[in-house]
Amino acid sequence: IAPDHIRAIAPYQPGKPIAELAREMGLNEADIVKLASNENPLGVSPKARAAIADSLDELALYPDGNGFELKSAIARKHGVGLDQIVLGNGSNDVLELAARALLTPGSSAVYAQHAFAVYPLVTQACGAAGIEAKAKAFSHDLSAMLAAIRPDTRIVFIANPNNPTGTLLDADALHGFLKKVSPEVLVVLDEAYVEFLPEARRTPSVEWLKEFPNLLVSRTFSKAYGLAGLRVGFGLAQPEVADLLNRVRQPFNVNSLALKAAAAALDDQAFLAESKRVNDAGMAQLTEGFRRLGLDYIPSWGNFVAVRVGAAGTVFQALLQKGVIVRPVANYGMPDYLRISIGLPEQNARCLAALQAVLGK
Ligand code: PMP
Repeated sequence: IAPDHIRAIAPYQPGKPIAELAREMGLNEADIVKLASNENPLGVSPKARAAIADSLDELALYPDGNGFELKSAIARKHGVGLDQIVLGNGSNDVLELAARALLTPGSSAVYAQHAFAVYPLVTQACGAAGIEAKAKAFSHDLSAMLAAIRPDTRIVFIANPNNPTGTLLDADALHGFLKKVSPEVLVVLDEAYVEFLPEARRTPSVEWLKEFPNLLVSRTFSKAYGLAGLRVGFGLAQPEVADLLNRVRQPFNVNSLALKAAAAALDDQAFLAESKRVNDAGMAQLTEGFRRLGLDYIPSWGNFVAVRVGAAGTVFQALLQKGVIVRPVANYGMPDYLRISIGLPEQNARCLAALQAVLGK
């Protein structure tokens, strides 16, 4: 009953929940290490936790459909107006809103090879054509992306850093790219992992909104803020673009607990700093381990790293048998790689030990 463009969609494959895997494997949940979904190993920020506990009585009511409190907190933090913000049920929702607002059958969107899987998904769901620009050394190749833009292109998606490669574009290159893209094309700059970057490597993307009316910056509370299960993210753009996205947004797309928790988490500097510290240390621990095992990896700016293990599907299954869950990325055109999320020191150590055993090193 569905049209061809819907039947052609390859479904997104989320990792299985730990409880389900434990049952399947006959293991205790406590013995399983899950480093598969780029989640925050520190859990929920204490301020967000307290805000959730305080909000339970509100669950009988609809959430604030305009998200006034959270938008106000975001506006203060980023120096933008309330009319420049779009809230999403996760930042995936923001990506989809952009697609729904701009893409129709007969139009196209450009994204890079090895880029985040949701870009083709939301593009195809709108019946638009997805154009994949070749990557260069696993990184977005901005010249190739520019060349891939056609007269019918309405969106270019850029993940910076990108998942699953962890690669980062520098500010000058991105700024030069934005100057060359036609104002008729929306550039969606997906910064889901931006909080993990050192200060010096962050692009002034929010500043650029003043210069580029066709820029949408998307952010999430799922990673450094530790709220993946609540589903909350946001987009920043000039008011015209924000308005378009808000038109296609469901009235109550962000739930009341998420609104409260995100507003509280935004202020939790201590938690953010600790998330970054744990991530930096874990990245050093894992990559040092890879070097010891003689494994190549793609230097990453996110809270995960892609490591080259050969037949990744087989290695993935063998790690699973040892209670270590990671993510194969063959669906990203990287059949030799596993993506491993950064965990706590003992989780990283278990992952490395399991890798060593499985690879017979
Ligand atoms: N963008 C990128 C690059 C991601 O890796 C992810 C999470 N996998 C998202 C967006 C979406 O995250 P969320 O919907 O949880 O905000």
